[in-house]
Amino acid sequence: MSVQLSKISVETLKGVGPKLKEKLAKLQITTVQDLLFHLPHRYEDRTQVKPIIETQDGERVMLRVTVQHSQVQYGKRRSLVCRAFDQTASIDFRFFHFMAAQQKKLQAGVELFAFGEVRRFGRSWQMVHPEITYIQEDQTAPLLESLTPVYPTTEGLHQASWRNLQKQALVKLAQEPIEDLMPQELIEQWALMGITEALLWLHQPPKNTPIESINSEQSPAIKRLIYEELLAQQLSMQLQRVRFKQDSAFIMRNEGILKSKFLESLPFKPTKAQQRVGQEIGKDLESSKPMLRLLQGDVGAGKTLVAALAAFKVIESGFQTVIMAPTEILAEQHYNSFKQWCDKLEIPVSFLVGKLKTVERREALVKIESGEARLIIGTHALFQDEVKYHNLGLAIIDEQHRFGVKQRLALKSKAPENRQLHQLMMTATPIPRTLAMTAYADMDLSIIDELPPGRTPIKTIAITEQKRDQVIARIADACEKENRQVYWVCTLIEESEEIQSQAAETTADLLAEQLPNCRIGLIHGRLKPEQKQMVMAKFKAGELDILVATTVIEVGVDVPNASLMIIENPERLGLAQLHQLRGRVGRGTVESHCLLLYGHPLSDNAKSRIQIMRESNDGFVIAEEDLRLRGPGEFLGTRQTGEMTLQFADIVKNAALIPEIQNSAKQLISQNPIIAKRLCKRWLGYRHELADV
Ligand code: ADP
Ligand code: MG
Repeated sequence: MSVQLSKISVETLKGVGPKLKEKLAKLQITTVQDLLFHLPHRYEDRTQVKPIIETQDGERVMLRVTVQHSQVQYGKRRSLVCRAFDQTASIDFRFFHFMAAQQKKLQAGVELFAFGEVRRFGRSWQMVHPEITYIQEDQTAPLLESLTPVYPTTEGLHQASWRNLQKQALVKLAQEPIEDLMPQELIEQWALMGITEALLWLHQPPKNTPIESINSEQSPAIKRLIYEELLAQQLSMQLQRVRFKQDSAFIMRNEGILKSKFLESLPFKPTKAQQRVGQEIGKDLESSKPMLRLLQGDVGAGKTLVAALAAFKVIESGFQTVIMAPTEILAEQHYNSFKQWCDKLEIPVSFLVGKLKTVERREALVKIESGEARLIIGTHALFQDEVKYHNLGLAIIDEQHRFGVKQRLALKSKAPENRQLHQLMMTATPIPRTLAMTAYADMDLSIIDELPPGRTPIKTIAITEQKRDQVIARIADACEKENRQVYWVCTLIEESEEIQSQAAETTADLLAEQLPNCRIGLIHGRLKPEQKQMVMAKFKAGELDILVATTVIEVGVDVPNASLMIIENPERLGLAQLHQLRGRVGRGTVESHCLLLYGHPLSDNAKSRIQIMRESNDGFVIAEEDLRLRGPGEFLGTRQTGEMTLQFADIVKNAALIPEIQNSAKQLISQNPIIAKRLCKRWLGYRHELADV
């Protein structure tokens, strides 16, 4: 029996020494099969000659021409210019680096093939540094039988090396096909090409294949890879889920006394959506299978109440709960809300963030370890090594999209021995359906799709920076006449925190001049936590009229009397972030406004974003648009980069395929788990191991 290509090292190929082997290893290529899965990202057509007149700007083409004359030009840079022509037009070849010998060869009447990128300006053509092949009598043209692949590469690894390696690999592939892991029924159901055939085709598409058609689903070879990649991805997510659910967690049994007391103490009733989601979570907690649930709800939907219900259930059952927030401000806000609730219920709460004083920190650590602290609220400091829990049962993670694989690992290490934690992730960034099905296929989803009653929708208005005066007048009205409070958000996002903070200070000073009767507070990333907390507390208590802030207020600020928000240069932010910011107003009963004070000139994309913000208040609509405008990468953050970058499939473009592939993945796992695992390994390789935990 011959040896499978997945077992043959790249070292066996001619030209691969230790150095090249190392470079390839960096790209996760160690075997001949890995190499074959490293596919071209574009192609060049050297299979045919194009008439000059038919070539377009930017196109890479092969020409057949006769030299008219050539001469050295002395402009800004010395260059050799050669004018040549075919039957349709003439073209100038330009060389900035050239030898005397080359100049000599490019004499009038000489015939040659030139390959390169055409630059077209109206009816004149140019090519810089073409690859030239001189035509001698009875020599055949340097035309190829298939399109020329161009491989994604790394420093110091040239296309010539790739082509040389792939050529050798393809010879081996022709002798020893790759095992087709896709079950035959699926191949038939989806009318797919064989894997070996697809790879052979993609490394050397036959001539006359239109280049644009190759990277689309229409190309059978690409279609095959898209399906297989998506299947592998679904399998990986589902397998992770199966594995997670195999662990056991503590069963939370209790009479619901804390829940009743808590609900009685509230000035309002939970919405239907909050009740429904609360029940979904409650059911999970009563099972010995660990919960892994993502709670989605637009800003202001009332996720905190749902989190509290979950926490109290676990606490009444005798276990500890942690709530982790991505920023100290948000952690503080949660701490304040929960402290009020918990005091009434006589539940001891601890607070743990990075910047605590040594004494406070030590005290918190002792209480957490002894079990005296039942609810612990903080930032990622909660998962540092020295934090020992007494009997942690539930981890609630707010704004989970900001946490990556690493944090999830740390989380597991805090579970009591041989147990998994129940996990509740919360996000105010609604996840578009298409993404939820792929990127979050390992979690259960709960959605709060209803806002608490009595909210008036926020009106969003776009105003050019040039009308800043009108905006100032409006603020004066809001503060002085209507007794309302105002947020002013400064949006320098790329710069350092230092520069951001300075910009906010400048804005605050300017506003103080323009609005002498308003009390203005300032909050930014350079302030100490106590300072931030003090400013927030003052704003919340109505002792400040205007809060000038950097985007640090994005999450976690709840001041119902604030009904006007100005966002300076909204064009600098993505839709999801704008929506989050805007959600800080509209929390009371009066009508709220959000003014987008934009600068000039606006890109088309920025215009669309502002338009969407004006038209919609619905987080899900905004999320879909955001996905469309930005693509999935930004949405998923570390989730995308850490666990599952797709090479061929595109979860937005290929969204329609996903439900069916998801079902097939489910079946495959139950019918043939070994194949399922092998498919994952083939596609996700080391990333699968990483995502395994
Ligand atoms: P988010 O989902 O953005 O975290 P919060 O939990 O901060 O929202 O809730 C936003 C505001 O709505 C808070 O002031 C909270 O007290 C209030 N709230 C939550 N649930 C209800 C309800 N059922 N009825 C009235 N107000 C509610
Ligand atoms: Mg919240």
